[in-house]
Amino acid sequence: MIQTIIVFLIIGLIITGILVNPILMKRRRNRLNRRPFPPLWNAIIENNLPIYLYLNHDERKRLQGHIQVFLTEKQFIGCRGLQVTEEKKIIIAAVACLLLLNERGQYFPKLRSILVYPSAYIVKETTAIDNYVVEERRVARLGESWTRDQVILSWEQIKQDTLNWQDGHNVILHEFAHQLDQEDGKAEGVPILKHSSDYPIWAKVMSEAYQHLCNDVLQGVNNVIDSYGATNPAEFFAVATETFFEKPHQLLSHYPAIYQQLQSYYQLDPVQWK
Ligand SMILES: [Zn+2]
Repeated sequence: MIQTIIVFLIIGLIITGILVNPILMKRRRNRLNRRPFPPLWNAIIENNLPIYLYLNHDERKRLQGHIQVFLTEKQFIGCRGLQVTEEKKIIIAAVACLLLLNERGQYFPKLRSILVYPSAYIVKETTAIDNYVVEERRVARLGESWTRDQVILSWEQIKQDTLNWQDGHNVILHEFAHQLDQEDGKAEGVPILKHSSDYPIWAKVMSEAYQHLCNDVLQGVNNVIDSYGATNPAEFFAVATETFFEKPHQLLSHYPAIYQQLQSYYQLDPVQWK
């Protein structure tokens, strides 16, 4: 009898936890969103995120609120002796939260920690040559996004990207776009869209542009979207996101349909910022 009561109590507690947790999380986030934004943090963003100056008052306030939530919920880990200072955290949070600016509701839900290396880091990659032979090689990387819980970034690359906001390359935008893509557990260049009716048009627009980019790369023709986007559809979405934020005018004139899809997904119109 007692055992049955204990089992029911445990089940009750689990169900209560499942129901109450999202409510508590929402309240905590609302509190963080309303917390005064330190002037020093504002100055750091003004000095390192050029488009911050073009955001209107409401957008700035929203970004500041997202940054407060992001900094509270995510853990930063310095690697190879790098100190992840407050300034570094603010810069990473500000660029990552730009992707969430217009209330996408979630804060990269699978992400737990952000590992920051001083510069490019070396990883071992294995490639199957055939059924019996696997080739192992060491490659340098500037960033990575894991489906499970981590983003890895090179601080040296972040500094370069901060100085060159209009070159279409941004490792933070790139890796956090992967996080958005991976929210449903798959990295395939299709993030979670608002309506189920949005998926067919997304697939058509993105796959046509992806093929176009692949053809350009094969023929050695320059494209507004960096050739790395031709690696696979997941990389295409990440690189197209970098282009959308850093070269919005060129993307709009070369690929208006992609611009429109990303504008609708991010609920942002970066051509208005410049
Ligand atoms: Zn990538």
